[in-house]
Amino acid sequence: MSILRFNALQEVLNRKPIQIEENDRRSELFGKNVFNEQAMRQYMTKEAYRSVIDAIEFGAKIDRKTADQIALSMKDWALSKGATHYTHWFQPLTGATAEKHDAFFETIDGGGAMEKFDGSQLVQQEPDASSFPNGGIRNTFEARGYTAWDPTSPAFIYGTTLCIPTVFVAYTGEALDNKAPLLRALQAVDTAATAVCKYFDKNVSKVNATLGWEQEYFLIDTALAAARPDIMMTGRTLLGHAPAKGQQLDDHYFGSIPARALSFMRDLEHECMLLGVPVKTRHNEVAPNQFELAPIFEEANLAVDHNSLLMDVMEKVSQRHQFKVLFHEKPFAGINGSGKHNNWSLSTDTGVNLLSPGKTPMKNLQFLTFFVNTIKAVHDYEELIRASIASASNDHRLGANEAPPAIISVFIGTQLSSVLDELENVTKGKLSPEEKTDLKLNIVGKIPEILLDNTDRNRTSPFAFTGNKFELRAVGSWSNCAGPMTVLNTIIAKQLNEFKKEVDELIDTKKFKKDEAIFNVLREYIKSSKNIRFEGDGYGEAWEKEAKKRGLSNNKTTPEALKAKISKKAIALFEEMGVMNKVEVEARHEIKLEEYSKKIQIESRVLGDIARNHVIPIAIQYQNTLIENVRGLKEIFGNNFEKYANEQIYLIQKISNHIVEINSKVEEMIEERKKANKLVGQKNADAYCNKVKPYFDEIRYHCDKLELMVDDNLWTLTKYRELLFTR
Ligand code: ADP
Ligand code: MG
Repeated sequence: MSILRFNALQEVLNRKPIQIEENDRRSELFGKNVFNEQAMRQYMTKEAYRSVIDAIEFGAKIDRKTADQIALSMKDWALSKGATHYTHWFQPLTGATAEKHDAFFETIDGGGAMEKFDGSQLVQQEPDASSFPNGGIRNTFEARGYTAWDPTSPAFIYGTTLCIPTVFVAYTGEALDNKAPLLRALQAVDTAATAVCKYFDKNVSKVNATLGWEQEYFLIDTALAAARPDIMMTGRTLLGHAPAKGQQLDDHYFGSIPARALSFMRDLEHECMLLGVPVKTRHNEVAPNQFELAPIFEEANLAVDHNSLLMDVMEKVSQRHQFKVLFHEKPFAGINGSGKHNNWSLSTDTGVNLLSPGKTPMKNLQFLTFFVNTIKAVHDYEELIRASIASASNDHRLGANEAPPAIISVFIGTQLSSVLDELENVTKGKLSPEEKTDLKLNIVGKIPEILLDNTDRNRTSPFAFTGNKFELRAVGSWSNCAGPMTVLNTIIAKQLNEFKKEVDELIDTKKFKKDEAIFNVLREYIKSSKNIRFEGDGYGEAWEKEAKKRGLSNNKTTPEALKAKISKKAIALFEEMGVMNKVEVEARHEIKLEEYSKKIQIESRVLGDIARNHVIPIAIQYQNTLIENVRGLKEIFGNNFEKYANEQIYLIQKISNHIVEINSKVEEMIEERKKANKLVGQKNADAYCNKVKPYFDEIRYHCDKLELMVDDNLWTLTKYRELLFTR
């Protein structure tokens, strides 16, 4: 009998939800462990506080003396909360977060010790982080990397460690992380959007990108997961027959949350409150044991940090509840996968959401301006957006008959579509007073009313307008939001710069009125970006054909999709917007390709091992029982035995056939791996994608057939029905 699996099942049956006490109101807990403005005001001198705020709001530099003061107060605050260590918390290009803890504790001359933390320790550190991927930027001998404080994301205490969000850069200046390019992209979009806002409101002096992510995940019991080497090593199941009941009844979606999962969520939310992560919504998702968590949206840099932090906290908290949390985009074949919707908008320091229609025609023209420019940017750089969300695990969703497709398109709803259609007919050149009035009253003026009943929501669109924000739905549940957010904000910045240039030119050279110029430029954008707009079923085959006709990219695999990252167009964009230089772009591309190959390599090895060390031995064991049985039947019935042993003999043959197939496919796969390993870069990734990966489905097919044949008592791997329906 397969001990581990049955012990695990027994263990799960005996589990009870952990009781979670919630004595304090969440509003009182919120941000308790964050060195936020309130804490700063309490612990800092006025001048130090002012300089941090200036750094946050205007990117002002903080001098060394002030940094010392800030460090001192940060330390006092942290010690008062029981912290013993501090760390520069950063996001290397692995996509995860990294930290190296140092104690505040220091010895002093003549014996004794004290807690110490000064400005230089706050501002800059040099972790010996030479093993992080750097894509060739950093030769370990010459250029070391350092972390530098990012004052726009507040320090926080997790456990007993003060975590200081930082960027990670090489001494030569190149960014070695996800945060530095994101900050530069946010700076670029701020500058560009603020300039455009001035057409409508001179008081705007800063524009923030906002991000509200929605995180999907699975919760699997740790004991059940531990009996699956594939889940433990790759975060997903590489084999497993579909259960008799899957998600076809839709009985999990928005259903009552299972007790253990709920107590995990409450525990998690408690931690999130302390850490200032404003989580708000929780519910069951479509697949069994799949859930979603969403916060209130925040400034994009902070939101990205909070999502990274959340994923880390989720893993820690889940352990307390004997759960393994799966962030993989497709942990189970035939069952819905997980994504991370990125709700995105732009908001001014005067409190206006630029993608929310306003009350006056002028405010609506401002809305239309940002709305149309966003569509235009996505149109021009759709392939780059696709590249920004590419990963081995997300390939299981994108373009693999699960939402959303690998084709990037924009959904805006029928009513806004008709507004744009009408705007296409705006007269070229100067507008008559009648036309202007008509535009303002009947087209632009109608927008707020239109949106109120703009309820048609297309769940198949990868980039949808949802009333007051765009929602990028194609982001993988496992990925760091920084990648797609960097691209999105960079292309919007570039587009807004372009727009401003064109409008100004019409005003200066053709003496157009401001609104005339804006209408004229928008009209052209609406026409030239029409191809990216799609309101139909994004999952259908018809769309694939149509998209091809329209010239939209449909890069189904990561090695294919990543090429857009290093196109001339992309490099020119990042350089022009000051987000990344060529070296930084190429380094990231190289790392992504390598990460892809390694992931497939690991999956391939694990699959080979499981197939040979678990599936085949069990199949043989069961086959032996059958053989024994046939032998016995022969003993009893003599030559007549076949009449009684027919079925068994048939099974014996079938098992042998599957074993032969598995063995030969695994052999072939290993050979392909060897060949792939001799290649580098694109060729290496292509080989893993096109030569190694196709064996996965074939091997799995035979393993899954065996799962159905073999005595359940012998099967060592926890089955889908157990992983998905035990709670
Ligand atoms: P759903 O898409 O699931 O129907 P909602 O429309 O309520 O849910 O919002 C989903 C997410 O959108 C939430 O996380 C919310 O914080 C975020 N969101 C709402 N407004 C904005 C905005 N202006 N900018 C960025 N994110 C936003
Ligand atoms: Mg959503």
